[in-house]
Amino acid sequence: MANPAVLILLGPPGAGKGTQARMLEEDFGLVQLSTGDLLRAAVAAGTDAGKRAKAVMEAGQLVSDDIVLAILKDRMAEPDTQKGIILDGFPRTAGQAAALDDLLSASAQQVTAAISLDVVDEAMVARVSGRYTCAKCGEGYHDEFKLPATAGSCDKCGGTEFKRRADDNAETVRERLSAYHAQTAPLIAYYDGKGLLKRVDAMGAISDIRTSLASIVKTATA
Ligand code: ADP
Ligand code: ZN
Repeated sequence: MANPAVLILLGPPGAGKGTQARMLEEDFGLVQLSTGDLLRAAVAAGTDAGKRAKAVMEAGQLVSDDIVLAILKDRMAEPDTQKGIILDGFPRTAGQAAALDDLLSASAQQVTAAISLDVVDEAMVARVSGRYTCAKCGEGYHDEFKLPATAGSCDKCGGTEFKRRADDNAETVRERLSAYHAQTAPLIAYYDGKGLLKRVDAMGAISDIRTSLASIVKTATA
């Protein structure tokens, strides 16, 4: 059997990595690995790593590579990742990218493709600062761009509780955007140099972006 696919989604906060990763799970049976979600779970569980990460995340800065790598390695050791993975929010630094290459080569695997979701920075502050999710099923909403059909009730599951991330406010988003440009955007050139980079215009409709991604993934995994 061919090696499981390893897809990387690159893009600033608000680019739609999480939204599209959920769709790739549906369309291709892959598993989404979001280091942001894994870290938030560690914070909520009060683990040592979570305690160290909390303040850094609330300030919009990057958690240290050693914490992120430990959390990611644990998750990658779980059997469902054999279906193939979509890395959402990882790697975010040159060190993480190198560590990922090492980790994969230890099991004779490699990155299948790195897909950059190309967006206009200025639009991201409004996208991120208005977003919230259903506490029950995780469906995403937005104060301006995507309200539930019936106020206060989730379209997908009827849930009535919603949550907002502590770091989804205008000030922290600006900090996260500068961390992205300083530390993560250089990875676009890194994967381009390896012939693995694909680019998608991610300013359009969610369904159009889903279609573009699906055709990229089909080609890359063929
Ligand atoms: P977004 O991409 O919208 O900023 P995430 O949920 O991916 O949101 O990440 C939220 C926060 O979690 C980041 O601002 C950072 O503090 C931390 N984080 C997530 N992934 C990483 C990573 N790979 N390396 C370092 N910090 C990370
Ligand atoms: Zn829901």
